Amino acid sequence: MAPPAGYVSTREDAAARVAFLFSDIVLSVQPSLQSTELGFNASLSRMVRQKQRGLVARRGTFPTVRSLRYNADPFAAALDELASNTFVSITAPSVSVPAAVPLLAKLARFPVVIHVSMSRAFPDYAEITALRQLGFTVLQSFSLVEAQDMAIAAHILAIRTGKAVLHFFHQNPAAPEESPVPVEDVSVIERVFDRNSLIRPDHSGNPVGRNIYWNDAAGVPFDAKSGTAETTLPTADDLVRETETTFELVRTATGRSYKAFDYHGAGNADTALLIFGSSAQQFISTIASAGWGEVYSKVGVVTVRVYRPWSGSRLLSVLPKSVKRLGVLEQLHRQTTKWGPVLLDVISSLNQDLTKPSPIPVVVGYTLGFLDEKTIVQALRGIIQNIQSEAPIQNLLVGSQPSHSVDSAFALKLPELETAYSKMLYNVFGDKLSVLNALDKEDAGIAKTISGNPEYGFGAYLAREEELKAYIAKLTSAVKEGVLSAETSELVSRWLLLNSESSPKIAETTTKLIAQLESESSEVAADLLKDKALLSPSSSWIIGSDAWAFDLGSSGVHHVIASGKNVNMLIIESEPFTARAAADASRRKKDIGLYAMNYGNSYVASVAVYSSYSQALQAFIEADKFDGPSIVVAYLPYKEETDSPLSVLQETKKAVDTGYWPLYRWDPKTATDEGLPRFELDSNALKRELKEFLSRENHLSQVARRTPVFGESISGSYGSEVRSQQQAKAKDAYAKLLEGLTGPPLTILFASDGGTAETVAKRLARRGKGRGLGAVAMAMDDFPIEDLGAEENLVIITSTAGQGEFPQNGRNFWEAIKTSTDLDLANVNYAIFGLGDSHYWPRKQDKIYYNKPSKDIAHRFEILGGKVLVPLALGDDQDPDGYSTAYNPWETALWTSLGVDGVGANVDEPPPITNEDIKINSNYLRGTIVEGLNDESTGAISAEDAQLTKFHGTYMQDDRDIRETRKAAGQEPAYSFMIRVRLPGSVSTPAQWLAIDDLADTNGNHTFKLTTRGTYQLHGVIKKKLKPTIKAINVALMDTIAACGDVNRNVMCAALPYNNALHKELSTWATKISNHLLPKTTAYHEIWLTDDNDKKTLVAGDAVVDFEPLYGPTYLPRKFKIAIACPPYNDIDVYANDVGLIAIVDDDGKLAGFNVLAGGGMGTTHNNKKTYPRTGSTFGFVTPENVVLACEKIMLVQRDFGDRKDRKHARLKYTIDTLGVDVFKGKVEELLGFKFDEPREFTFESNIDHFGWTKDERGLNHYTMFIENGRIENTPEHPMKDGLREIAKVMEGEAGFRLTGNQHVILSSISDEQKPKIEKMMSDYKLDNLQHSALRLSSSACVAFPTCGLAMAESERYLPIFVTKLEAYLETLGLRHDSVILRMTGCPNGCARPWLAEVALVGKAYGVYNLMLGGGYHGQRLNKLYRSSINETQALDILKPMFKRWSEEREEGEHFGDFIIRVGIIKPTLSGMTFHDDVPEEE
Ligand code: SF4
Repeated sequence: MAPPAGYVSTREDAAARVAFLFSDIVLSVQPSLQSTELGFNASLSRMVRQKQRGLVARRGTFPTVRSLRYNADPFAAALDELASNTFVSITAPSVSVPAAVPLLAKLARFPVVIHVSMSRAFPDYAEITALRQLGFTVLQSFSLVEAQDMAIAAHILAIRTGKAVLHFFHQNPAAPEESPVPVEDVSVIERVFDRNSLIRPDHSGNPVGRNIYWNDAAGVPFDAKSGTAETTLPTADDLVRETETTFELVRTATGRSYKAFDYHGAGNADTALLIFGSSAQQFISTIASAGWGEVYSKVGVVTVRVYRPWSGSRLLSVLPKSVKRLGVLEQLHRQTTKWGPVLLDVISSLNQDLTKPSPIPVVVGYTLGFLDEKTIVQALRGIIQNIQSEAPIQNLLVGSQPSHSVDSAFALKLPELETAYSKMLYNVFGDKLSVLNALDKEDAGIAKTISGNPEYGFGAYLAREEELKAYIAKLTSAVKEGVLSAETSELVSRWLLLNSESSPKIAETTTKLIAQLESESSEVAADLLKDKALLSPSSSWIIGSDAWAFDLGSSGVHHVIASGKNVNMLIIESEPFTARAAADASRRKKDIGLYAMNYGNSYVASVAVYSSYSQALQAFIEADKFDGPSIVVAYLPYKEETDSPLSVLQETKKAVDTGYWPLYRWDPKTATDEGLPRFELDSNALKRELKEFLSRENHLSQVARRTPVFGESISGSYGSEVRSQQQAKAKDAYAKLLEGLTGPPLTILFASDGGTAETVAKRLARRGKGRGLGAVAMAMDDFPIEDLGAEENLVIITSTAGQGEFPQNGRNFWEAIKTSTDLDLANVNYAIFGLGDSHYWPRKQDKIYYNKPSKDIAHRFEILGGKVLVPLALGDDQDPDGYSTAYNPWETALWTSLGVDGVGANVDEPPPITNEDIKINSNYLRGTIVEGLNDESTGAISAEDAQLTKFHGTYMQDDRDIRETRKAAGQEPAYSFMIRVRLPGSVSTPAQWLAIDDLADTNGNHTFKLTTRGTYQLHGVIKKKLKPTIKAINVALMDTIAACGDVNRNVMCAALPYNNALHKELSTWATKISNHLLPKTTAYHEIWLTDDNDKKTLVAGDAVVDFEPLYGPTYLPRKFKIAIACPPYNDIDVYANDVGLIAIVDDDGKLAGFNVLAGGGMGTTHNNKKTYPRTGSTFGFVTPENVVLACEKIMLVQRDFGDRKDRKHARLKYTIDTLGVDVFKGKVEELLGFKFDEPREFTFESNIDHFGWTKDERGLNHYTMFIENGRIENTPEHPMKDGLREIAKVMEGEAGFRLTGNQHVILSSISDEQKPKIEKMMSDYKLDNLQHSALRLSSSACVAFPTCGLAMAESERYLPIFVTKLEAYLETLGLRHDSVILRMTGCPNGCARPWLAEVALVGKAYGVYNLMLGGGYHGQRLNKLYRSSINETQALDILKPMFKRWSEEREEGEHFGDFIIRVGIIKPTLSGMTFHDDVPEEE
């Protein structure tokens, strides 16, 4: 419980507060970074939160607190911090101290204060005595108020002497809380500590090697001695005196006085006990309350406050002369030397005093064990009896010794994130896996800090090896002596042979041998069975990580490699590469992979599970097979243990892409053709050290040959160095440009995410040139800041990103301008134009973000002394002509102020190329795709071709996770292609599934997606592999034509697991419609399906002219989507389609026909009210024979009447609303030659999938499986992709897959005979888990980051995290099984149909979403904007009370979307055109 304000209630609290006051940084050592409220950390975090000021922190700064795991070298971090000239303090549990002795020896020379809490009921004082030789001043405190005083003394002492001080105390967690004491007022402390005379130490240079303060006169000078540094080092006596001076200062301030030793008891005692342990106070009070005549009533007690430097003279000064016998009680858990360290100190003190006449007391040492109130009296009597005997026994144990366990609060904890690799190991090796240093292994009597150590693991391996040797000897002699039956002997011999060959076949023989031994009744067999575990082969792994130990010497890596033993080591590196890059290079951890390769005898692999699961898998298998040491270094970067897997993934990708963490495998025992050890580079880029190694080993040419991209990437690095080179190049180009220009210069800098600011800037430059100016335009970040002051005329054009931030390509520029103090713009004339949207942030408090970048930069330029050419103008999307309203007069004013308004005319603008132009000029979708594919100089294709390839089913994308790092490295974006399959009816054979699965591994990013339109999507296919992939899809009897583009797309159909015949009929109609509406161009075949030397290849320009009977040369104005639903299930969201077909089934179960809906569509643009989602309007009923025709005619009317000028207004939904439903329908009927019938009745119940097993009318079984957001991938926790592949391999008969519109999959048409086998596989691969909350089962997200170029926010990768945060709460409301349709998309294009969801989050900027509410449960009603631009916390805060209300007030069966409308939280959206009306938030 937190103490009242102004009080401290624990010794840790007291010490932490003082440490905070006296530090720039406090390093708080923790058992795990999640234990933020433990020990010292509780009060440290409180002070950070309250922004408390310190006494020594630099002016204007606050002390900072950094938490560090106690097993991750926290004391090394202190050395790092000292390099930044900081006052460093450490708070730590005493368990962390002994392991840090080597580092503490270095720290002792600096004015660092370490507060150590012995936070156990029975602490081990050896943790303190271990430091006795290091040169620390060591102070002990015995009460809460003393802890505060000693903490103050410790800091003052450190500053005065320039040397380290350790302050320790016992904080018994089992004892009742002490009464809080008031905190020492800062003004009181200031009485003895003059902060103004404090001189900050300069530890720069070599912090470890320098002695500071003592002769640097930093702080309050201790003594103005002259002479060299060596002669001014403080002696122990100096420090003793200085400690006493400091205690005197504390007394002046607080009135409380302290000494190095205290004596308690009678002044004439003949026996005294010096107690160095936690029960000193108990002894003192027991003696004080002793009855008359009690043997110990006249015994005195000495306690030690200043343990180091130990002052014998101060001890003797408190000890009464009458003392003849002195007991020394030391609380040590293990006595490792004959004499305790304190006993030796005491003896040496007494020996100093030989000159004195009084006799030296007899000294008797005791080991102080655990005592409680009941046993202390007994113990005291025993002590006195022994000490007063004629021949006292030395080293008697008093009390009981504890077991060597660490309190659970301080037990070593494995960071949850790091279990990813151990889970993978388990998945690969199963029961065969033996993790030799596993933290969860119980090893009696061994602390986890030890048993978790790699060295311990290696020892365990050697022990097992010895045991195995002995066991093999037993087996051999049993066979030789013929004491086993013939069958058993035969099996034992076979086992021995296989074991000697390390044969994988041994497992089978082992099982048989154990069974055989069990059937034999001999004693020998029984004896052999006792250790039968040794018969089973094992894959032995030692795991090391930052969380255990990393250093080569101390982690056992060297021992393992040098031993040549067949043991595997997995070493996890968890430091993010960005943090690493920023760290001091000399402190970087050693590259263990390189070290092992240099050694030459080990298998070495570098893996990163979040970059390539399969590569990591392969490395584990190879390491296991390798006969000798194997070292697998594995990357898993995280900053906090609570980091989400998403941030780990993003960090990993950057590290792998830049070559910081290359993926490779090295096998010294498998030779290449050239006779070199096999080296496989599994990623594209290498870091310098590895490159050097490979060059030396002659591997480089080999690697470079195999992966041509390597040559290009290897020169790339990352970070500021390259960035400045890039700027220099841009500047050169700029200078060249200027050379050719004659007029006055005009430099136009833009910052643009969406491209508008860039377009405006470039157009302005063209117009400037037309007026004779030397005008150039470039991105702000490409301009060298140091040249800014030399510009004559400068124009800034910037748009507004996210929460008023600069667009990506202007951020560095702004950062530099914002903080620069030496930029002088006195000679610069400038004009600034901003682009923004005044309605983007509906809430008043967010209005400040409107056009913030342009306003910020204008303000800054003014401060830097620039001269205004034209006043700042703000373009607003909401103005009648958008930004042009403000822009046009601003541009005119600019020409006037530059004096060129009368010069020249407007330069002819090249007309913008529209999609319509691209289509018409493409020669039926050919464009220059073939040439683009053959261009090896780039991973991209041209912008026009990128539009055309969509018609062929592929989109060009780039990996947005690494876009910025690649840009900084001067590399082009990591281009790749998404390929979408056309799969009418969403039905796939097992062979097709396997083909896609294979292509994902060989040509894609090892995953594939089941889409919201019931088809497959591959991601990450690089240009070189595009054609082979599309070809392979065709070989598997699928195609990709018209899967995207301005044509009719894949036709979906309901999944219908309960009715096989009906499903077949509907999917046949879906296929017929899809095939009928396919583009007829032969370009698809020519481009993708021909061989390179195929004579029939026809490329653009050839004489063949295609004919598109339905589409014509310009195809449709926009995409066109058709889907078939079958009531009562609306699992394909029929209302969201351009044409929705609702199957109407007769009473006798026959398909009667379809109700036809038209004009549904999802895509919108944020803040553009001309755009809206729409549900389809009912046209009427058609019989099956007419359905294809009806679809065709609707499409043709759209072809002819759709808006081809504005793509944002081109979908069928707008055409229908523009013409009116009746007019549009009339035109369709005219083409059809008949009228639609009256629509038939139907009822929908839901639009979600029905998970689990269903039996259809023919007795076949169908299993609807939950696939989170449709992503098929292997993860350490869940090798789902492998599982589905194995299932596809064993499917027989009609069995196959159906892909649902909710991104799940149905294992369909499984016979009763096959079902048990499939069920077993589902269970083995954890594919049968439908125990998720109903919310998760009803949720769905689009792809968004990292591949979708339009994404503004995360979606697929983030929705599962969001659901987790919500579902725990729903559970508490009893809503676990209540379905709520929740959808998320990364932008308003609506791929996951968010506008129909009961709750939707639509991305607006990274981490920012619009919250939509009130959609209909079965997809019949649109939702409405409830709050815009909110983050996760806000979304959860809004939703939770609503769910609570729903749980309490809903009517029977009332869905969430309906409920919030009924209770008035949101208005219903009854048609697309009223979507923007009644939005609660609008002004
Ligand atoms: S909704 Fe937007 S972000 Fe999501 S996949 Fe579609 S276009 Fe990309």
